[in-house]
Amino acid sequence: MNLFVANWKMNKTRAQARAYALELGELIGGRDPGVEFVIAPPFTSLEESKDSRERWSLAAQDVASEKEGAYTGEVSARMIADAGCRYVIVGHSERRRLFGETGPVLARKLERVREAGLTPIYCVGETEEERDGGLTAAILSAQIETLVGDPPEEPLVVAYEPVWAIGTGRAATAGDAGSARLQLAELLSGRRNVRILYGGSVTSENARHLLEACDLDGFLIGGASLRASTFAQIAGLV
Ligand code: PEP
Repeated sequence: MNLFVANWKMNKTRAQARAYALELGELIGGRDPGVEFVIAPPFTSLEESKDSRERWSLAAQDVASEKEGAYTGEVSARMIADAGCRYVIVGHSERRRLFGETGPVLARKLERVREAGLTPIYCVGETEEERDGGLTAAILSAQIETLVGDPPEEPLVVAYEPVWAIGTGRAATAGDAGSARLQLAELLSGRRNVRILYGGSVTSENARHLLEACDLDGFLIGGASLRASTFAQIAGLV
């Protein structure tokens, strides 16, 4: 089933999250949407983002690399599971770029996520400089290497998110996203259950074409997911 993940990043108060959940619930109604919806709100709005009818599940946007203890400001995988999440985004380019997260830290985060029984949404993608230098394939391989200790029998979501496409309004072409998807599928061919998403300036205008032309399993959506109606539209619901 295709997967559509709304990454709200550092947006929405609890009241705004409640209003969004109400609107998305009305848009889905009682029908089977035939797709899987996930919302990744800030930690403070997890409770307000829940659907009592379980028409969507929740993801955390980040997780601590340590289990518990004296790590001021951190939130553990166990706490995230306890708060009702099913997924955790790991390795988003904003975490890599702005907070200096690299392979070894991300590998520890992945381990914590698995210990808590959660599923990672692991993000990979090259910068514009790397792309211009012809390094996309090498960067993707290196970033997938981080999954070396991750149990191959467990379900996994990988999001190809070229850094130059995130929040820029310049989505990858179907050719670029399609070839990255193919490479990732090959790198992950030893896994039993993996879904490959694309993320980077997905809108209701480009979603359908990208999804079909690249044989993707869905999208990780930032800006365009902040309105429930656009999120639903991208998923083909309205
Ligand atoms: C993201 O941050 O994961 C993302 C894809 O953002 P946007 O859709 O705004 O480019």
